[in-house]
Amino acid sequence: MSLLIGQIILSTLLLLFILPLFFRRTLLVPLNRLLDGVTQINSGQLQTTVPVTIEDEIGYLTHSFNDMTQSLYALNVGLEETVRARTHELNLEIAERKRAEEQANAASRAKSVFLSNMSHELRTPLNAILGYAQIQQRENHSAATQIITRSGRHLLTLIDDMLDLARIEAGKIELREKPVALQTFLSELIELARISAKSKAVEIQLDSDIAADKRVMLDATRLRQVLLNLIDNGVKFSHTGTVTLRVVEDDAGKIHFSVSDTGIGISPDQLALIFDPLYQVPNEQLNGQGVGLGLAISSQIITLMGGELVAASRVGEGSTFSFSLVFADASAPATTPFAHVHHHRALADGHAPRIVIIDDNRDNRHVLIAMLEPLGFVIQPYADAREAFGVIAQQPPDLVITDLIMPDFDGFTLIRRLRQQFTASELPIIVTSASVFPEDSQRSVDIGANHFLPKPIELDRLLSILDTLLSLEWVELESAESPEVVQRIPSAETFTTLYHAANKGDVRELRHLVAKLLQQPDQQQFAAQIQPYLATFELTELASWLATQSPIGEHTHG
Ligand code: ADP
Repeated sequence: MSLLIGQIILSTLLLLFILPLFFRRTLLVPLNRLLDGVTQINSGQLQTTVPVTIEDEIGYLTHSFNDMTQSLYALNVGLEETVRARTHELNLEIAERKRAEEQANAASRAKSVFLSNMSHELRTPLNAILGYAQIQQRENHSAATQIITRSGRHLLTLIDDMLDLARIEAGKIELREKPVALQTFLSELIELARISAKSKAVEIQLDSDIAADKRVMLDATRLRQVLLNLIDNGVKFSHTGTVTLRVVEDDAGKIHFSVSDTGIGISPDQLALIFDPLYQVPNEQLNGQGVGLGLAISSQIITLMGGELVAASRVGEGSTFSFSLVFADASAPATTPFAHVHHHRALADGHAPRIVIIDDNRDNRHVLIAMLEPLGFVIQPYADAREAFGVIAQQPPDLVITDLIMPDFDGFTLIRRLRQQFTASELPIIVTSASVFPEDSQRSVDIGANHFLPKPIELDRLLSILDTLLSLEWVELESAESPEVVQRIPSAETFTTLYHAANKGDVRELRHLVAKLLQQPDQQQFAAQIQPYLATFELTELASWLATQSPIGEHTHG
């Protein structure tokens, strides 16, 4: 019995030792390996395989585990591949979009710069034209100078419109309202339209009931742009007949504008499209005329002004474009640009401010001299800013007027250098420039200019700035030189003497001759044209200018 018990105890003890060993080999070891596999997979090592030691359930589980890790690995490789490919594509797309954007920006910048530069180039000679026209207008109110002034102003408007077009396209336009005498505005506009349509057999009429003294706040440039465009179209799309601008004020003070023509008309299906940018009704005869932007721009401007541009038309009978606007009243008189100074005045005696002028453009130097010298200012002109700087530093004048854009030593450099020596009250500086970059005017004031005056220079504005900066004293002149005096060129004899003196470089003789001419009321204008050459000692240029005036044969009886 005790032997049996002993056997049982022994086998139990054996079991107690052997079973754990058995389980350890068949269960715990493979399970631990599996656990290690899971840990490895968790840490991202997807290529893990767990060795199979026994082909039982655990072995089967391990096989399945290995299959799963392999599939996971394959899936992951595929995913990575896809992500990599897609990222590459996206990067390419982004780069492409960025490139396109940069190209568009560069193109738009280039266009802006081109337009601004072109505007600068056109404004520079226009400054001389309008400057002289203003001077002559002060002295004699001839029809010729009026036409020069008006056409010059028109040209200026065109240049501005060209810049506006770029801004409109960029969606950046704003109205600049000023008091305007509406009826005068309309008559001038019709005159302009007639000038541009001269060669056509189409009559342009104004039919307006606006009171002569009605003044309203309006952006004249924009409204002129719209009306001229509509009238031009009326003329362009008519062979003969009439284009009528009708302007009617209703009882509520609303003003109705319409431009009607008796031209070719527009068919109903085309009518829906003509306000689209760049749309033109196919027309063989008019190919190449216009670009199809006029109506798109006009319509946008009228919307901005609070109206709506609409068209009505019948093929073969004609078209009418109309819109209605409400303007704020502006009854108080206001100064218009290029207002003419009718009274004659000069600086009081013993008060002759010295002004240094710096401009690399000869005509623009001359126009300033011609504007200021007759009033009593002493002008020292320089073409070269570096040279002027040397002189100013030694002998500071009362004021400096400088151009901005000049080769080598430009206006900015000049102002910066001068401001190291003189404060704004010690030496006032006026900048005049044909640049339309707003940053140029801002920058010149930032670095120390007292004023920025755009070219073409408005004489009245220049004088009022000089008034403030130099506290000028004026005397009214007797109207001995009556504005009615008809100006003439000198006799052939005087002309020859002038020409020879200029050719010889005889400044004293020339001064004497000019002084004599200035005493004759009908020769003053001619004398005034010689003065700038004398002031700058450009006698060769004077001689060639005199030669172009060719009096011989044209003018024999003095
Ligand atoms: P553009 O005159 O430069 O062609 P617009 O935008 O001013 O461009 O006009 C677009 C089109 O509308 C013109 O090409 C023309 O076919 C049509 N159109 C405009 N005004 C008239 C009109 N008064 N009579 C007939 N067709 C017109």
